[in-house]
Amino acid sequence: MSIESNIASIRQRIGQACERARRDPAEVSLMAVSKFHPAQAVCEAAEAGITLFGENRVQEGKLKIPQCPSSLHWHLIGHLQSNKCRDAVHCFEMVQSVDSYALAEELNRMAEKQYKSLPVLLEVNIAGEATKFGYKPEEVLNDLERLNTLSRLEIHGLMAIPPWAADPEKTRPMFRRLADLKKQCEDQLGAPLPVLSMGMSDDFEVAIEEGSTLVRIGTAIFGARPKKGV
Ligand SMILES: *Cc1c(COP(=O)(O)O)cnc(C)c1O
Repeated sequence: MSIESNIASIRQRIGQACERARRDPAEVSLMAVSKFHPAQAVCEAAEAGITLFGENRVQEGKLKIPQCPSSLHWHLIGHLQSNKCRDAVHCFEMVQSVDSYALAEELNRMAEKQYKSLPVLLEVNIAGEATKFGYKPEEVLNDLERLNTLSRLEIHGLMAIPPWAADPEKTRPMFRRLADLKKQCEDQLGAPLPVLSMGMSDDFEVAIEEGSTLVRIGTAIFGARPKKGV
């Protein structure tokens, strides 16, 4: 299957999931996750109408983004180390993987130096997995107010990568938990958070039914990832 036809079929499935959930498909952004795939693949997806792309490593994005059309939008979706914050702020429009106050502070400092504001999502370790990055759900609520004082960061919402399950129905409660947590954050801030980034190739339809506003799709668009990055 070509990248173009994969995208057409995903758009159709997004439309059907929205219909089931009585949601407007315009509320759901489709991100193509291009990690490990070359700029050529990004260009093909761009020709099929995708404008939002995700990379999980700063270094890979730094090399790839300049080789792609300049009209595209790029988000960092992978774990970020503080020594990469300067490049992350330079290369990406949004960082979806903010998982500690210390990291947020460093991003804020780098955004200030680059005279920018940086939209961010808080990554939540929604199933409390020992091997995964992300805030514990209760820590998000504890940190929210001081995160909100960082003048160069704009908190746009939450992101999570729930544990993979062969049956996406098993993931539904995790998506629901993340959506609930977003509501709690909105109550605490007294302001709406527009973005709920959840759902990947194997579970995006369930994520949409549970309120996702941004699905991050890699394999179902580009096919299996090569073993080594670009
Ligand atoms: C790789 C990745 C994806 C895409 O995963 P697929 O299963 O290939 O769709 C989505 N989100 C994050 C954070 C990723 O690292």
